[in-house]
Amino acid sequence: MFLPSQFFGAPTPVKISRISVYQADLPMKEGSYSWSTQSFSGFDSTVVAIETDEGITGYGETCPLGPSYLAAYPEGARTGIATIAPDLIGEDPTQLDRINDRLDLLLKGHPYVKSAIDMACWDILGKVTGLPVYALLGGKRQEAVTLFKVISRTDPDVMAARVAEYREMGFRQFQMKVGEDPTTDIERFRKVAAAMEPGEVMDADANTGWRQHDAIRVVDAVRPLAAEHDIRLYIEQPCLTYEECLTVRQHTDLPMILDECMESLPVLLRGYHDRAMDLINLKINRMGGLTRARQVRDLCISLGIVMTIEDSWGGEIATSAIAHLAQATPESFHFQSSAFHEYHTVAIAEGGPVVTGGTMCASDAPGLGVEPIMDVLGAPVYTT
Ligand code: MG
Repeated sequence: MFLPSQFFGAPTPVKISRISVYQADLPMKEGSYSWSTQSFSGFDSTVVAIETDEGITGYGETCPLGPSYLAAYPEGARTGIATIAPDLIGEDPTQLDRINDRLDLLLKGHPYVKSAIDMACWDILGKVTGLPVYALLGGKRQEAVTLFKVISRTDPDVMAARVAEYREMGFRQFQMKVGEDPTTDIERFRKVAAAMEPGEVMDADANTGWRQHDAIRVVDAVRPLAAEHDIRLYIEQPCLTYEECLTVRQHTDLPMILDECMESLPVLLRGYHDRAMDLINLKINRMGGLTRARQVRDLCISLGIVMTIEDSWGGEIATSAIAHLAQATPESFHFQSSAFHEYHTVAIAEGGPVVTGGTMCASDAPGLGVEPIMDVLGAPVYTT
């Protein structure tokens, strides 16, 4: 049998030659973004550029949702990358699991720090092989990714008015931010539900904001709205702890999405065995990057758990990673995703996912398919 000579022997390794870190502000088009008791006018994002000796550069992004959403903060992302970057010089970025072993050896925890580096390495792998990241993650398993639109927490009447506005943009799935005062939250449910059309999705995300007894009061009060308006009503992360959420889950037959407390494979398995949730929210940087998010994605498919696939926040680069992972996930296991870059007044990269009528598609170009706009990113805040 004839085999071309290039099939023999080890491939020439690609080596990381330089790592640079950039900071970008992402101001909100609507002026603010509010959930539970938090409110921000924009988010502070971190972009990493990993250069190789082959002249290929990969880009990654990590954007904690401010400093008080998860145990993650923007300055920490940059400090963390600067701490480990010198020890990554000379490593082969295309060996993804090996790179993740190295990241874990260099820094305990801090998955949001590692996420940007892992993402940039996937971008490099795609550019080296000439394949889009969705192909490397298992192939294009859905042509377009269903999006949800966030209805930011504000006055209940204003929130209800936004349903028609967002429907006009093509959205049929809405993530309504609640988790503040339970009485006002119940009013939010009622007014927003009344503005919805049959079959639309209301994902009521409390972002850990309710106490257990308040959450039980709310789910009891809003349960009739699903039938009354013929809407698909979901409750997302009602309380801070897994145990509190499980108690709420055992009290209601409304489908439950767990997000903030689904931070690792062991807790996912615990949730599966306890029947604690119908869906999870898989956030790339809470898992430590695409490599670990892919593991969770695959396990969820094996266990029959449907996913919202997203990140804590981000611009075009992080959203591109979301789109690639979501497109490589079967439609029946993908609930919804978020096109974060559509929420900002500033673009940080060209080639981000194309949004059309409540769906988005990743680029078919090699890697993530994004090209940072260096005029926006400015000078690096750190270089090895
Ligand atoms: Mg959530």
